Amino acid sequence: MDDCLFCKIAEKKIPSKMVYEDADLVAFEDINPAAPVHILIVPKRHIHSLNTIAEVDREIIGKLFIAAKTIAKQKGIADTGYRTVFNTNKDAGMAVDHLHLHLLGGRVFGWPPG
Ligand code: AMP
Ligand code: ZN
Repeated sequence: MDDCLFCKIAEKKIPSKMVYEDADLVAFEDINPAAPVHILIVPKRHIHSLNTIAEVDREIIGKLFIAAKTIAKQKGIADTGYRTVFNTNKDAGMAVDHLHLHLLGGRVFGWPPG
């Protein structure tokens, strides 16, 4: 996608603080962190949201969570706890139209979420 912020970050046309990269995904620090650890885990291939995933995306969705687990361990929040979130569309506050898994940790979160 030509005009997609996270496609551009994945292609390194826009800088980010990247913490992980492999052939299929990138992970970088959220520019406006909502917790001491706030990482976005993003497929390199443009997918809009959970609403648009299909059978072909089965593997990449699993990879996003494997990356979340690995990064949580690296950041030292695996044992204390963390939250993984996909926001989808307006009511969830989705602001960037490219699928991204939030990995949040380093503080206590309320439930239910606000
Ligand atoms: P969402 O509301 O689920 O769409 O989340 C979008 C997230 O992207 C927000 O937490 C933003 O702070 C974050 N964000 C927006 N622009 C950038 C950027 N250039 N680099 C890193 N994170 C960003
Ligand atoms: Zn994109």
